[in-house]
Amino acid sequence: MKIGIPRALSYYDYYPFWHGFFSELGIELVLSDKTTKKLVSAGSSLVVSETCLPVKVYAGHVLNLLDKGIDVIYSPSIQSIAPKIYNCSKLRGLPDLIRNVVNKNFLLIEPTLDKSEPKQGFYQYLYESVAPLGITNKKLIKKASKAGWECMNNFTLMTRSGVDVPTAMRNAINGKISLVSTQKEGMVKVAVISHGYNIYDEQVSMKMFKKLKQLDIEAYTAYNLTTEQMEQGIRNLDTLLYWANEHEMTGAAGYYLKDNNIDGLITLTAFGCGPDSLMIERITRYAKRFNKPLLNLTTDEHTGEAGFVTRIEAFTDMLIRKKRTSIVNSLKKQVPKKEEEKKLVGVE
Ligand code: SF4
Repeated sequence: MKIGIPRALSYYDYYPFWHGFFSELGIELVLSDKTTKKLVSAGSSLVVSETCLPVKVYAGHVLNLLDKGIDVIYSPSIQSIAPKIYNCSKLRGLPDLIRNVVNKNFLLIEPTLDKSEPKQGFYQYLYESVAPLGITNKKLIKKASKAGWECMNNFTLMTRSGVDVPTAMRNAINGKISLVSTQKEGMVKVAVISHGYNIYDEQVSMKMFKKLKQLDIEAYTAYNLTTEQMEQGIRNLDTLLYWANEHEMTGAAGYYLKDNNIDGLITLTAFGCGPDSLMIERITRYAKRFNKPLLNLTTDEHTGEAGFVTRIEAFTDMLIRKKRTSIVNSLKKQVPKKEEEKKLVGVE
């Protein structure tokens, strides 16, 4: 039995769980190909132009799976991840949108997870994930859930220890754990504030991480933080958690803005995202207050890589110069003043 998983949106957050869960039930997962310009155009052509870029990308991935001959697509509706904390309307209505815009013959598995509703919790979500495939044995589902959590927990352990997300994802689904981080002392450190589906999709982020690595910049994201650190970040920005997306954006920004090891922040928002535009406003105000350098980038299907890279280079170049100046100034403070020098060598 094969199920297609679009390599977009919640894939970046939950794929290790799905892998463990479905594999335990003997179901093979097939991923769509990596995002390309062609795939984005195909997805964009299905929806109205005001739709946010990640949803256009998602639609493109669904088409890609159907083109590969996969006719069972898994597309959950993740409404609420904790009581009274909701996802944006586009994520909540995702399967409805796909069902209505993709005019092809396929089975859409669309379980709902809504932790704000007493009868729509996690096990109900898992049940709805496999019932359309004829799997209803609750014992089997619970066993598969355990396997899913094992894979997911390994993934989280690795990302929090500093392992980059693609490596952690690869290792987790292959049953490996590596906790070796590549962090080096003295490098300029930048926090990239965005959703996993923006920053780890190389087409959407214009290979931002590779670029930062080439520039010798160490990058951090929300995936490197614990839930407690993210909640601390939300408190640092004096805000109340309502949108699930705030964990990734405001929580991470609030934490890194107050982290003295972080030299600057880069935010990446997708065109058409309502919640992010509100959060960016708040992050920008607080960055000024905390005196932390900030670069705001927006991406859409027409963004050119050259302009993007130029802005990242200029920003990181400024951070490198700033860091050098502060190191030189602190070294100068350590050099003894003339009077102290005389005392040290015993000259009157
Ligand atoms: S949070 Fe923004 S970018 Fe993400 S799906 Fe919702 S509207 Fe789109």
